Amino acid sequence: MHHDVDVAIVGGGLGGLTLAISLLRRSVPVAVFEQTTELREIGAGVAIAANGARLLRDLGVELEHAGNIPPRLEFRRWHDGALIRSHEIGSWYRDRMGAPYVTMHRGTLQRMLADEVPKEHLHLGHQVTGLVEEPDGVRLRFADRPDVVARVVVGVDGVHSVVRRHVAGDVSPVCSGEIGFRGVIPVDASPELPNPTSLHVWCGPRTHTVYYGVDDGQLINLLAVFVPETLPAWTRSTNRVPATSAEALAIFSAAGWADSVLELIRNIEGDMRFWALQELPRLRRWSSDRVALAGDAAHAPLPHQGQGAGQAIEDAYTLGHLLAEAGPGGHRHAFETYERSRRHRTRRVQHYSRMAGKLMKLTGEAVPRRDEDLANVPHRIRWIHEYRADAPPSSGAVWH
Ligand SMILES: Cc1cc2nc3c(=O)[nH]c(=O)nc-3n(C[C@H](O)[C@H](O)[C@H](O)COP(=O)(O)OP(=O)(O)OC[C@H]3O[C@@H](n4cnc5c(N)ncnc54)[C@H](O)[C@@H]3O)c2cc1C
Repeated sequence: MHHDVDVAIVGGGLGGLTLAISLLRRSVPVAVFEQTTELREIGAGVAIAANGARLLRDLGVELEHAGNIPPRLEFRRWHDGALIRSHEIGSWYRDRMGAPYVTMHRGTLQRMLADEVPKEHLHLGHQVTGLVEEPDGVRLRFADRPDVVARVVVGVDGVHSVVRRHVAGDVSPVCSGEIGFRGVIPVDASPELPNPTSLHVWCGPRTHTVYYGVDDGQLINLLAVFVPETLPAWTRSTNRVPATSAEALAIFSAAGWADSVLELIRNIEGDMRFWALQELPRLRRWSSDRVALAGDAAHAPLPHQGQGAGQAIEDAYTLGHLLAEAGPGGHRHAFETYERSRRHRTRRVQHYSRMAGKLMKLTGEAVPRRDEDLANVPHRIRWIHEYRADAPPSSGAVWH
């Protein structure tokens, strides 16, 4: 059977681009199909920990000087900003983990990855609307474009994945009960903000915020989260709605937040949205005969460990290696090995993300105990950061 492409990647986000690089470095022909006409993520930052940064380095993308390296992780109290607990990151972390913890603009990272994928492999403005698995290949259907037939397909098309429907049926992400909003704010908008280049987690009753410096530290990326008494009606039909900083400010003022954080919220520029935070339930399977899922499409976590992108990068690195090693006929074995090596870890990251979200927003008597326990955070989450997405030994198979 004629194939237009060998490996078709649906989605040109952080996971899809990393998978393309991983395969291209191993001389596997790929085509990335991305629905947007321009690769850009406006107005938000991303944290990449050592587990992601070391894999990107191995693929030739060095993050060390591309973003901000937070010197410390600081847990603070919501109403007065008092320090509850502080842990080193910076060079201490890099020396122990063998790769840095970097906070940066998502757009910067996406550009760095896209620069490594030659244009002829990247097809923008290609929205996949469906897939048909045929005996020798997979037919991809697009909105307003001719079909493409691929030998295998990987769906890295995010939490609302179209490819997932084909592989695992209708599985929808589940709301955690939290609403979040984010923004990028110039650091001088809030002169009282302590140590803006550090990674901050401020804990309040039914509310928490995470902020860090991005790029050269002149901008702050803020993620603020609250738990309303009941989820608003819009969450039943969509996962985000337009919002204003005045609405956000009212919620955080009412909860008694410190002025330094309220200043950040007041100064969020541009379009703002309230997101119903969601995670993906466990899927029955991650692949069908010739189609596999990776990244958020397979196991989207809540954002509270800052690991969604990291897990997508790990998936992409592992799957890229396995597909290349397996050669053109060995994709089933590659998919099975991939799923076996990734399922448990990504489940555990989802669990830890969920728990972290709850811990940051405790009320009443549980608070002093939680504060005491924040001393153990580096020890407790070390397994996430020191992980090496090792791949099995080479089978010696070659592509073309
Ligand atoms: C508020 C918030 C904060 C976060 N902060 C962090 C953080 O600090 N660190 C971190 O590691 N993670 C963070 N994450 C999670 C992270 O954004 C995701 O986990 C990560 O981007 C997943 O990558 P992905 O490539 O799987 O999916 P995505 O980044 O969602 O990419 C999917 C791509 O597929 C494309 N696509 C979708 N459907 C189609 C289709 N039908 N046809 C063609 N293309 C399609 C989309 O346009 C998109 O480009 C955060 C998430 C949220 C909501």
